[in-house]
Amino acid sequence: MKTTLLTPETDENAVKTAAELIRAGEVVGMPTETVYGLAANALNGEAVKKIFLAKGRPQDNPLIVHIADFEQIYDLCPAVPPQAKLLADAFWPGPLTMIFPKKDIVPYGTTGGLDTVAVRMPVDPVANCLIHLAGVPIAAPSANSSGRPSPTKAEHVIEDMDGKIEMIIDGGAVGIGVESTIVDVSGEIPTLLRPGAITIEMLRETVGQVEIDPAIQGPMAANVKPKAPGMKYRHYAPKAELVLVEEKNPETKEVISDRVIEEINLLAKSRLDQGQKVGIICTEETRDCYPQGMVRSLGFRSRPETIAHNLFAVLREFDDLDVDCIYSESFSKDHLGQAIMNRLTKAAGYHILDVKEEV
Ligand code: AMP
Ligand code: MG
Repeated sequence: MKTTLLTPETDENAVKTAAELIRAGEVVGMPTETVYGLAANALNGEAVKKIFLAKGRPQDNPLIVHIADFEQIYDLCPAVPPQAKLLADAFWPGPLTMIFPKKDIVPYGTTGGLDTVAVRMPVDPVANCLIHLAGVPIAAPSANSSGRPSPTKAEHVIEDMDGKIEMIIDGGAVGIGVESTIVDVSGEIPTLLRPGAITIEMLRETVGQVEIDPAIQGPMAANVKPKAPGMKYRHYAPKAELVLVEEKNPETKEVISDRVIEEINLLAKSRLDQGQKVGIICTEETRDCYPQGMVRSLGFRSRPETIAHNLFAVLREFDDLDVDCIYSESFSKDHLGQAIMNRLTKAAGYHILDVKEEV
């Protein structure tokens, strides 16, 4: 299959062509404000199968269904609980996904066999226009091959999907850079299943009590079934071993100190001495502190949105550079930091080194 790349900025038919492909049961790469998605008609079981095939995604890992107007939600679920309505009023269109009981019309292929469906209304104008023109709700997981870091640029989608899907819409670099916040609103108390740009602080300010699924906090025990099936899979992972280095200080909440920098430099030197290629992940504030290794800054520690924006692109860059290991600074888990640290700790396979515990 030849994959066509079209840019709406220079080709006025780009989104229309993508919408026709979706109506014909094909798969298209589309930009959203969070990460690029692999889009297909959510109500067409055969079309949805093609998404799983292109990604190499396990069949029990459900897809998020994207809508363009609030009313479209009643095509997918029988009722919207009051708390979900409050959250939709506050954060839709935007990077928030909510889990509802599903209607029969939504195929089990889309929901990974679950009786619930994940729904989001993206704010990205290209995604919004595509859903409108397609005239159907659009199932779209992140447009990476399963297990790889999510794509934040059209080039990343080409890397993973060239020859596997009909078309990619190039909408430039995405704004946010980490996947949507997921909240289960099918029970009495809303539960956060995946942190994102709509933070737990923002959710609680809107609806009061919100619980946090234990799968977010750390590695899952083998016998525990996570509420978001995707949480059990290795994710966002670069090919190289990634280690997060931090110094926890509960009083100041700081996780970076001179000792962290010193430790990363020591670890990097010992690997470099063995002839290995070493990547270092830091920030603009500290990039001059690392004299050796391939040093990449994620952005400004003082502006977490810059860190989220660049995180996956830097992990992919280290894949291209074929590094043997990566040492990364840690981040505070407040606000957007919760999403950043969730992705980084998963990418590191929960390998975190606290320099305080070192002798
Ligand atoms: P992705 O679109 O690749 O970011 O993955 C979608 C995520 O949404 C996966 O981690 C799923 O586990 C989660 N998800 C989708 N549908 C449901 C659902 N019905 N219940 C719980 N989690 C869901
Ligand atoms: Mg994904």
